[in-house]
Amino acid sequence: MPRGECRRQGWWHGKFRGCGYRITSGREVILDVLSKSSQHLSAEDIYMKVHTRYPNIGLTTIYRTLDVLSSLGLIFKFDFGDGRARYELAEGPKGVHHHHHLICTRCNRIIDYTDFIDEEVELLNQTEKGLSRKYDFKITNHLIQFYGLCSNCAKK
Ligand SMILES: [Zn+2]
Ligand SMILES: [Zn+2]
Ligand SMILES: [Zn+2]
Repeated sequence: MPRGECRRQGWWHGKFRGCGYRITSGREVILDVLSKSSQHLSAEDIYMKVHTRYPNIGLTTIYRTLDVLSSLGLIFKFDFGDGRARYELAEGPKGVHHHHHLICTRCNRIIDYTDFIDEEVELLNQTEKGLSRKYDFKITNHLIQFYGLCSNCAKK
């Protein structure tokens, strides 16, 4: 949050929370919102949730903070093909394990799955090992998503 907005909140805010806290809290609030959601939220969705608690945080700040968080690797930004970027915690929502995505390009349904098939785990392990060696790169995470038609859409 820009310093100007911080000042406008009045002395009492500074007294209880401190401006420094308020500036970083934009990040914390967004991480909190994402950790409590089991859906893939757009910037607008996040804004709506943040807004009820922190009416001073504008949509521009949300966009900017989301960019910072994704460049820090704390969140992932997805394009599921519906024209809106969506976000989720890099580690997955609280209590939800690392997952992969199946994305229906017709109805935009997103299936989060954690029940990986054996071939997938095997392939990923091999690939990560090989890439680490070849590029001398320590791999800490990955994003896997497959596009196609869900069972409903495939029937039509
Ligand atoms: Zn994975
Ligand atoms: Zn579908
Ligand atoms: Zn997901």
